[in-house]
Amino acid sequence: MPGRDAGERVRAAAEQALDRQKYVSAIDVLVGMNLLSPRDLEGWRRGQIPQLERVVHCNLNKLSEAMKLLRQWASERGLKPSETVYMTQGRGGTRRPLQFSVSGDEDIERAYRTHYVSTELSEKKQQKLLEKASAPKEIVAFLILHNSKCSECGEELPRTSFLTMEGSAPLCLACADLGHLVYLPSGDAALTRRAGKYSALRAVVVRFSRARGRYERQGLLVEQAALEQAEEECLEDEEVRLRRRLRDAERRTVEDTALAGRMTERILELYPRCPPGEARAIARHTAERGSGRVGRSAAGRALDEEALRLAVTAAIRHNHTEYDTLLMQGADRLDARKTVRDRVTNVLTEWGPGTACKVPDA
Ligand SMILES: [Zn+2]
Repeated sequence: MPGRDAGERVRAAAEQALDRQKYVSAIDVLVGMNLLSPRDLEGWRRGQIPQLERVVHCNLNKLSEAMKLLRQWASERGLKPSETVYMTQGRGGTRRPLQFSVSGDEDIERAYRTHYVSTELSEKKQQKLLEKASAPKEIVAFLILHNSKCSECGEELPRTSFLTMEGSAPLCLACADLGHLVYLPSGDAALTRRAGKYSALRAVVVRFSRARGRYERQGLLVEQAALEQAEEECLEDEEVRLRRRLRDAERRTVEDTALAGRMTERILELYPRCPPGEARAIARHTAERGSGRVGRSAAGRALDEEALRLAVTAAIRHNHTEYDTLLMQGADRLDARKTVRDRVTNVLTEWGPGTACKVPDA
């Protein structure tokens, strides 16, 4: 790396990255200065190169100077330093943090991991950006539309088979170490989420849509065991939900019965000469509506004297007058109520302890 204009080159690469993606990383600068090839970067990201510094075309002193220049530039530009996590991605194995430096020194590692973020963006946008930058990239498997051929084992890959790309080389799943994965098509969001989570190695399956001119997600390739665990949990969830529904229904029935019993007692206190069978019917009907539809507080309110009077009045209107017939004949509701009001009052008086209450029209 030429010494004299190093600062200028660092700045140019950094400005370009900032302009493009609103943040700058050490890697952006190294790639921008042609000190790191995208191919080597990819190899390091896949865990094939143990330390990034080994493939940077520049000695360690110059490299450390470039890092210092980047820090200075970022500080002058008022960018916000923010640490990210770099994890291995790609073929085989479990993910692990990537190492940048030959020495493994924690300060140097942190310097490489630090992204400098534009403060022009809202905090939320900055956060999103960092999450995106630090999230390990997904392995993509293509559901191919045309016949192809594995560049490693030479196997013919007919259309609708899976294929991955390593650089520009097509690989069959077996050569890409993905051969043991099973295909889970999209459709069940919970199952997909769980299977993806439990699968240490997975790939997103995409297919090119000619109609829309873009690749579209079709599903996931996941480990068999992960899929089984996910399926089991989803089934359990369904069972739990079913059991809960039954339990709730049972609880409601018990509550309804208890409420109806109390309600019957209250109705008979208010209307001692109401036939007990009718009092029970009114209570049962009111209790069901009270607890099932509007919950406990409404059920409690249903024991109020006024609420019970209204329930009894409504029952009398329906069962002891021609009210329902009038409604069926298309009578106006308030007119019909007026027509049957005297009859309702008479029944209330018959049933009641003494004075009948005023029968509401509305
Ligand atoms: Zn192959």
